Amino acid sequence: MKMLLVAEYRQGELLESYTELLAFAGIMGAESAMFLTAGTAGELPKFSGRLYLAEVAEFGEYNPDVHKQLLLEVVEKEHPEMIVFSHSSYGWDLAPRLAVSLKAGQISEVVALQDGALVAPVCNGKLRRTMKSRGRITVVTLQAGAFGLADAAVGVPTVIPVTGNAKGNIDLQGYEMAEHGGVDLSKAEIIVSAGRGVGKPENIALVAGLAKALGGEYGASRPVVDSLWVEHNRQVGTTGLTVSPKLYVACGISGAVQHLAGMKKSEFVVAINTDKDAPIGDMADVFAVADLKQLLPLLIEKLQAL
Ligand SMILES: Cc1cc2nc3c(=O)[nH]c(=O)nc-3n(C[C@H](O)[C@H](O)[C@H](O)COP(=O)(O)OP(=O)(O)OC[C@H]3O[C@@H](n4cnc5c(N)ncnc54)[C@H](O)[C@@H]3O)c2cc1C
Repeated sequence: MKMLLVAEYRQGELLESYTELLAFAGIMGAESAMFLTAGTAGELPKFSGRLYLAEVAEFGEYNPDVHKQLLLEVVEKEHPEMIVFSHSSYGWDLAPRLAVSLKAGQISEVVALQDGALVAPVCNGKLRRTMKSRGRITVVTLQAGAFGLADAAVGVPTVIPVTGNAKGNIDLQGYEMAEHGGVDLSKAEIIVSAGRGVGKPENIALVAGLAKALGGEYGASRPVVDSLWVEHNRQVGTTGLTVSPKLYVACGISGAVQHLAGMKKSEFVVAINTDKDAPIGDMADVFAVADLKQLLPLLIEKLQAL
């Protein structure tokens, strides 16, 4: 299979997510080329293949109309069967525009593969659907963290400059950082996070109590934030924050891919879960099969006694 991978560049930097696209291509056994709009003098993706490189000073960092036109030119040359984006704000915006222009099938937020078909969540992650596109070309976005990073992101690409008269109606005015509201989990060295397993809002105090006893901050999974038990600026995951603490304690969190994507760079992970088969156990350094309502008060008491 021939793939075209669409790498991203933001605020003057190449995003590491391109290695996830490479990992996916590797799993699919695909021959891949890559497209990137970037500063031509800056860092380039590490891979051995054709890199179609558009100059950011000319075509803009975030300009979906223009980037679509550039991509259509590259598609003419490469004839890919699959065009792969990250499931990011750039990918969400650009992938459907391209799919419409190409009359291609689009499958968004792919999290796994099953017998050559693509698996994506539905109903807010409660169900999964397995899909194959019947089209000549399929446009795909990949959920962050679903396919890992390509360990073997090595090599020097063959750069093919992308030029042309692409024009669009959007001018990027700049980026605005989200409010952290007094707490910035991305800088915390210890994070204790609450998942749906806390059961009720009163039990957030247990998680916050353990965080305090450890000298850290508390975070939460998305259902806890959606239930308004914890503020959004503490949500960890693809639609929340990406964190990389020395210690991450996941309390009553199952380990959905969207949560793991936000905390997988933690140095040491402790998970507390009543279900011994919860997926978080696969990546935890210490997995306590226990009821958090029983274990957390004991841990807090022991830590306070030190
Ligand atoms: C587009 C999209 C974006 C998303 N973004 C995010 C995101 O940024 N962050 C995020 O977290 N999720 C995100 N999600 C949701 C994600 O798919 C999962 O639904 C969510 O992470 C599950 O949260 P959870 O682990 O807290 O809950 P659940 O999956 O319900 O897990 C609860 C866990 O608690 C355990 N448990 C129950 N009782 C106890 C107890 N007494 N003691 C100990 N353990 C107990 C259970 O065994 C279970 O494993 C997103 C989903 C979509 C579709």
